Amino acid sequence: MVGGKVRSEKWILDQLEKLTAAGLERRTEVYPPSKATAANFSSNDYLNLSAHPAVLQAQQQATAAGSGASRLVSGTTEVHQQFEQQLAEYLDKPAAVICGAGYLANVSILTAWLRRSDTVFADRLVHASLIDGIQLSMAQHQRFRHNDLDHLEQLLTKRSANRQPDERWLVVVESIYSMDGDRAPLEAIAPLAAKFDAELLVDEAHALGVFGPAGQGVAAELGITDQVGILTGTLSKSFGSYGGIVAGSELLRRLVVNRARPFIYNTGLPPGVLLAAGESLRLMKAHPEFGPQLLALADHFRTELEKQGLTVGPSTSQIVPVMVGDNELALALAERLQTAGTFVKAIRPPTVPEGTARLRFSITLAHHEALLTSTAEQVGHEARQLGLIE
Ligand code: PMP
Repeated sequence: MVGGKVRSEKWILDQLEKLTAAGLERRTEVYPPSKATAANFSSNDYLNLSAHPAVLQAQQQATAAGSGASRLVSGTTEVHQQFEQQLAEYLDKPAAVICGAGYLANVSILTAWLRRSDTVFADRLVHASLIDGIQLSMAQHQRFRHNDLDHLEQLLTKRSANRQPDERWLVVVESIYSMDGDRAPLEAIAPLAAKFDAELLVDEAHALGVFGPAGQGVAAELGITDQVGILTGTLSKSFGSYGGIVAGSELLRRLVVNRARPFIYNTGLPPGVLLAAGESLRLMKAHPEFGPQLLALADHFRTELEKQGLTVGPSTSQIVPVMVGDNELALALAERLQTAGTFVKAIRPPTVPEGTARLRFSITLAHHEALLTSTAEQVGHEARQLGLIE
């Protein structure tokens, strides 16, 4: 007993010291770090709508700051109901349900849909919220190598022999991957899943607002929305607000409402948050040029980075990683850039695989071509100073 305390917290300190020694301790840092910081490359507010005057004004139309109860008690307002209908229409699905966050949307649908006796085939790089949902469901979890359809087919074929008559299968992918900025070959994944009688879940968190007509996502761009039984997303990125989306059939919606604990036991989102997201949706529909504009900026940035001799990985979206490898080197590069006025975060394991630390640049409509050119030059300069490139 030390100082009247029975319990010691030394184990916490021990764990944290190990993280610190490995260059992996995380901290919540206030943004912006100083008034001098000019450009933010670590925001998922891709369309720069979060501070759009019309979006802010819409938020202020709310008559209550909170919804006051869970959705099934008295936390479903007309705002919730109307916005769910608008989202369903936008995503070209019979129904949509809003959850407390994108994280909760994924955990909701996965835990409601999967039983212990079912099998899920997930891309190795899917987001933590998808992994957590799968683990909570206790279903069999098969991981296939990132975007490797041969590997997926091998796993599906191998498991087919032992598939129980009522065993449900689910293939889980993201349309745009959050740390590499590359896309899943949905046009090939959808028929493969169908061939093995597996349902397909596509998380379009990073694609909504950017890809497809009026930002309806990659599945819509490919014209295969009807082959994606479960579509999930978030209101915290392009929509500039907060909340999660599950879209699919009317039955799927009823499943979430009746079976998903994160939906049932979480207080409904504040209506103002959804009024803001609703205004963003209106703006996305009115400005189909937003997505192409953003993707052109990202193209320009990748070209400029490559001119510097930097490696951008497989990115084909507004998410542009600059690959570094070593954790400490990634941190050092991020720190130098921050001092030079560019705010970008180093992304390290376990968020990304060991040995693939990187700077993750999120391009948004707040950036412009000249800024991206000078930023790429700055990254090149600092990377040379650190000996990362010649
Ligand atoms: N899915 C993906 C692919 C994500 O990158 C994120 C990210 N932040 C989420 C889901 C969770 O969304 P939210 O932040 O709204 O919880």
